[in-house]
Amino acid sequence: LQEDPSFWKDNNVQVVIRVRPLSSSEISVQGDKRCVRQDSGQSITWTCHPESRFTFDLVADEHITQESLFKVAGVPMVENCMAGYNSCMFAYGQTGSGKTHTMLGDIENGTRGNNENCGMTPRVFEHLFLRIQKEKEIRRDEKLSFTCKCSFLEIYNEQILDLLNPNATNLQLREDAKRGMHVENLTEHEVSNAREALQQLIEGAANRKVASTNMNRASSRSHSVFTCLIESKWESQGIKHHRFSHLNLVDLAGSERQKSSGAEGERLKEASNINKSLSTLGHVITSLIAVSNKKSQHVPYRDSKLTFLLQDSLGGNSKTTIIANISPSSCCAAETLSTLKFAQRAK
Ligand code: ADP
Ligand code: MG
Repeated sequence: LQEDPSFWKDNNVQVVIRVRPLSSSEISVQGDKRCVRQDSGQSITWTCHPESRFTFDLVADEHITQESLFKVAGVPMVENCMAGYNSCMFAYGQTGSGKTHTMLGDIENGTRGNNENCGMTPRVFEHLFLRIQKEKEIRRDEKLSFTCKCSFLEIYNEQILDLLNPNATNLQLREDAKRGMHVENLTEHEVSNAREALQQLIEGAANRKVASTNMNRASSRSHSVFTCLIESKWESQGIKHHRFSHLNLVDLAGSERQKSSGAEGERLKEASNINKSLSTLGHVITSLIAVSNKKSQHVPYRDSKLTFLLQDSLGGNSKTTIIANISPSSCCAAETLSTLKFAQRAK
């Protein structure tokens, strides 16, 4: 797999399927029986009855490395932000399908020393700061400067929690002319290199674990959103320029059907909020494609906190990548089909 300069060329939404290897527990339950067969780099077949074939921008099999996936999907995202646009990457899939492996991977051992298990987000930062350095050198005459600010939040039950300040719960979304859509009182840490950004990521990930334990729930039932706000300033021909772009990396709640039967009170509310926010995300993405094809106008951003928060980064000149993670095991056949269908609707 190579960096693909045509990624996003004719579409602002790219959909990648990542098939993870069979786990040892799947093998012990079902042997190595599979529910999918890869046909090519763009196509995959769900092999239960009736067989269904799906086509995507990329189908990455279980052998794809974290580095290759980063080159294909992460590099264009950084380049898009360097050009002044917003980028969003979502990891979608049932719990255990590899979302966190894809987005974070092994963050404890950093990106140095060829830590091949480190995932998308730390690699994105490494690349971002290398690009910033290079750009500053090339455009020294323009006095180009950058400021990067990180924030990390969790959306659980349609409530926003600050992962960099876990005492701040139930934060509110605000919209104003200067900042656009933003979360009021959310912590933003300025970072000047990849190591500092990684530090925020590690701290937030640890807080996420603590929060889910304290609130007696699985972190798989919340979305986490890591955002880097990149601000650049430069001068050309006596005119001062100023530009902002957002880079958003989202680890979504598990997409497995949340059972509302038998659930009551908080559990019922939680189940319906997860179903609703994932289906709203699907609707928003489908509408964006329809808008770009001039078929439809309305995009239902306001139907969930997640899409409302990210509305400035979804649509317009923004670029979106969905990495739909699946298990190849026949024990996950139903959820795998449902993920393939979700991903297909985004095409
Ligand atoms: P999720 O975040 O979707 O619940 P995880 O990322 O935690 O799933 O993955 C579940 C397990 O599978 C973890 O132990 C993870 O290390 C492993 N895993 C997931 N994807 C891969 C992959 N592509 N290669 C190797 N192991 C993987
Ligand atoms: Mg996870």
